[in-house]
Amino acid sequence: MSTSTAPLGPRAAELAVDPVAYALALREHLADNSADYDRWRGHEPMTVAERNDHHAALLRALHDDGGWTRYGWPEPAGLGGDPRHRAALYDELSSAGLPVPDQCLVLETLGNPVVHFAPSLAAEVMPALFTGAQWWGQGFSEPEAGSDLAALRCRARRDGDHYVVSGQKLWMSFGATAHRFVCLVRTGTPEARHRGLTMLMIDADAPGVSRRPVALASGQEEVSEVFFDDVRVPLSRAIGAQDQGWAVAMYLLQFERSMFAWQSAGIALRRLRDLRGRLASSGTPLPDGTTGRLGSTYADIVTLRSRSAATIRRLAAGDTVGPEASVDKILLATVETGLHDLARDALGADFLLADPQDPHALDSTAWRAEWWYSRSSTILGGSAEVQRTILADHVLGLPQESSR
Ligand SMILES: Cc1cc2nc3c(=O)[nH]c(=O)nc-3n(C[C@H](O)[C@H](O)[C@H](O)COP(=O)(O)OP(=O)(O)OC[C@H]3O[C@@H](n4cnc5c(N)ncnc54)[C@H](O)[C@@H]3O)c2cc1C
Repeated sequence: MSTSTAPLGPRAAELAVDPVAYALALREHLADNSADYDRWRGHEPMTVAERNDHHAALLRALHDDGGWTRYGWPEPAGLGGDPRHRAALYDELSSAGLPVPDQCLVLETLGNPVVHFAPSLAAEVMPALFTGAQWWGQGFSEPEAGSDLAALRCRARRDGDHYVVSGQKLWMSFGATAHRFVCLVRTGTPEARHRGLTMLMIDADAPGVSRRPVALASGQEEVSEVFFDDVRVPLSRAIGAQDQGWAVAMYLLQFERSMFAWQSAGIALRRLRDLRGRLASSGTPLPDGTTGRLGSTYADIVTLRSRSAATIRRLAAGDTVGPEASVDKILLATVETGLHDLARDALGADFLLADPQDPHALDSTAWRAEWWYSRSSTILGGSAEVQRTILADHVLGLPQESSR
């Protein structure tokens, strides 16, 4: 690849303080080197493990030719800047017809609390994320502890200079391939609920860790169960103080719900453009109402982007967004379900019947796989019902239902 626009060196300092200059420089880089990025355009590998590797290679390319993945993260692992730089990265990739690497979804969720609550650990473990050499999984949910996260039972007891972790996590995205897990574990009594939790980083290859992929309705093994059997974790791998894990989780969730929404909005815009292009060139009559639905889906995406941009500016300014990020999460689910239902209806029989083995049917099978995943948009990261309750209780301050 050309290094003519690579901004490491004197320009790095300038770009680190100016997200707009960063976005323009990255746009120029992607345009100048467009052919080198072609392997990430078009259809993607279908299995999760293959897609992980494919996207990791994109991170590597972006990192090696300009350090683009390091902006927006603090030094020494990053090059400085703030969440607006990261938002610009995801946006420029989508505008250039490239995927946002799946690993970035988890990086946005887990990287922020590690940087904020454990800066020394961040300096050690984050560089491998920027190169795509490693990625992490988020270990919050357990059987009987999803919406009611404070009921979690995976336990860590102190033993000298280690914690010893035993228990199970469920529904972990990237659980089958991640190199490390960021897990919320119980260090206090079950009765202590959210006051007895600690956030730990656990290496996936530590003795006592085992994982079992779970196939979702699409047939794809998108998530995993992860089991911990007396896994020894150094005290230095705590993210935040012991028993203060709830505060770390709440800090994390505002990024998970907002940056994920921004990434997804950019991806949705790219996919809507793809769908419109395919429908326009197909020459076959469209089902009634399709053009109106294309327009309303576009409006939903723009609504999400407007809201999400405001949230990102607040995060960049160091504001606590807290429960208000649930608005972004609800808008995201509206976009995800609306876009994919539109594709299902507009593509008709192709969507339903396309053979995954047929190289001419890749677009339809990709839409079908994405439709299946979009069903989880009202569940993952906190269900839509729970998000609405958070807004009612913590943003609108409505009285509890029992006292109405
Ligand atoms: C594709 C996918 C990826 C995921 N990735 C991860 C991950 O990487 N890491 C991780 O930790 N977790 C992950 N999850 C888990 C996700 O966070 C949980 O599924 C979610 O929080 C809901 O928890 P649950 O499945 O236990 O459902 P439950 O909490 O049992 O909820 C079941 C139903 O009851 C409703 N409900 C529950 N409580 C209330 C209430 N108080 N008021 C109103 N309605 C309520 C819910 O809305 C839902 O409809 C993932 C899930 C999916 C589907």
